[in-house]
Amino acid sequence: PQLANQIAAGEVVERPASVVKELVENSLDAGADRIQIDIERGGATLIRIRDNGCGIVKEELALALARHATSKITCLEDLESILSLGFRGEALASISSVSRLTLTSRTAEQKEAWQVYVQGREQQSTIVPASHPVGTTVEVANLFFNTPARRKFLRSDKTEFAHIDEVIRRIALAKSQIAFTLTHNGKIIRQYKSAVEKSQILKRVSAICGEDFVQQALAINWKHDDLHLSGWIAISDCSRSQNELNYCYINGRMVKDKVVTHAIRQACAEHLNTEQSPAFVLFLDLNPNDVDVNVHPTKHEVRFQQARLIHDFIYQGVSNALLSAQQ
Ligand code: ADP
Ligand code: MG
Repeated sequence: PQLANQIAAGEVVERPASVVKELVENSLDAGADRIQIDIERGGATLIRIRDNGCGIVKEELALALARHATSKITCLEDLESILSLGFRGEALASISSVSRLTLTSRTAEQKEAWQVYVQGREQQSTIVPASHPVGTTVEVANLFFNTPARRKFLRSDKTEFAHIDEVIRRIALAKSQIAFTLTHNGKIIRQYKSAVEKSQILKRVSAICGEDFVQQALAINWKHDDLHLSGWIAISDCSRSQNELNYCYINGRMVKDKVVTHAIRQACAEHLNTEQSPAFVLFLDLNPNDVDVNVHPTKHEVRFQQARLIHDFIYQGVSNALLSAQQ
């Protein structure tokens, strides 16, 4: 099983930032509204994610580290309608197979917290009592300590941390009501306060995407049946600077999807002149039955039941926003 875990880790755990993504998604799935991310040395020596979510009961702590152990789906029908960010039960098993992982957790019903520790190949976990408020802390030390070939591919601390920062930016954009703190080598680098009202949300968008983006942004709010497209699109003449700011989320999950991207591009190509390029943060929400997110382990890709319909819907939503701005 250990070899299988390490092979799976190759797909899910590319670098420290992928560990951070999986662990923060677990915290979100656990209903946390405060998540602290502590990083040492670009994540090579330590990644620690602390949340105030529901916690894991003592009996399930060791199980959480086992491959294909997920508490999020219990039957095949669930797989058809996934709203949680995780569902494959691979992340913790994969990460623990290539690091020294400590999982500490406490549920509201338990008086005390419990902790398990596993290290790479051994995968023998012992459970000990610990001190922890309701919620979960996952500590990943010495990532890739037992896979030197992988460790060699780690870039500088600065580069790896920049990737982590980007992961948190992307998540923080979609989860504005959640408070995030990101530290590196003991220093607070980002602090996103919980944002509920529109002005607070715009403040977070501005912190992440820049004040320019917020100033220029056209709000999109486009609905049809159970499809909903929302977010912002900004047109800049200085195309280069905002080229990277192309964020698209489907049911709260950041994806790179050809159908969505093509629809946005097509709308922009028709309504803008060639020197202009769009920066956007767009959220598409639809019935989870109409989209398959189980296409790839990293879950960056999706497959729509009715790609054409989705394409046209997005095209219309974006076109409408661009046209109304020109009037
Ligand atoms: P998945 O997220 O696909 O279910 P993971 O390997 O990421 O698989 O996590 C395994 C299980 O461990 C989850 O299904 C969940 O029950 C539990 N778990 C992991 N992280 C947390 C957390 N931060 N809070 C509560 N439960 C967690
Ligand atoms: Mg997960």
